[in-house]
Amino acid sequence: MKGNQYAVIGLGRFGSSLAKELVKLGYEVLGVDINEEAVEEMSQTLTHVVVADSTDEEVLKSLGVRNFDCAVVAIGDDIQSSILTAILLKDLGVKSVVAKALSDLHGKVLEKIGVDRIIFPERDMGIRVAHQLVSPNLLDY
Ligand code: ATP
Repeated sequence: MKGNQYAVIGLGRFGSSLAKELVKLGYEVLGVDINEEAVEEMSQTLTHVVVADSTDEEVLKSLGVRNFDCAVVAIGDDIQSSILTAILLKDLGVKSVVAKALSDLHGKVLEKIGVDRIIFPERDMGIRVAHQLVSPNLLDY
């Protein structure tokens, strides 16, 4: 296991794919989701999984998320949950908070909260594919 520990909050398509890849790369990953089925699906793959509501400060404290090097907020549709979770993680002192945004406005709010890195999955992937199309040798853009 490598040093860094990651918490991935929201195990939808984006969060679960990201979490699995981090495990493949040799990192410890805690997966959190409010949905029991989503958690059950990842229980054999991730280092730890928990069914919990990430908008509950006490829950985040009890999971010890402040000790993680990086927490990824992979909640999109429920903008309120995304924003509340991100602000709690920042307040708890997580070193690096990454969050996915579904719209420019969502991204702006996350930026104001102080989220360290904002990902726009569809937009970022569109840019990436365009670069790969014009430079097929550039596999890892
Ligand atoms: P994807 O495209 O990655 O599947 P999505 O944007 O369609 O994601 P969302 O509904 O935004 O899906 O949420 C992703 C995951 O986050 C879901 O599995 C959902 O249960 C979880 N989630 C939503 N709110 C919370 C919360 N308050 N606490 C923990 N997990 C949550």
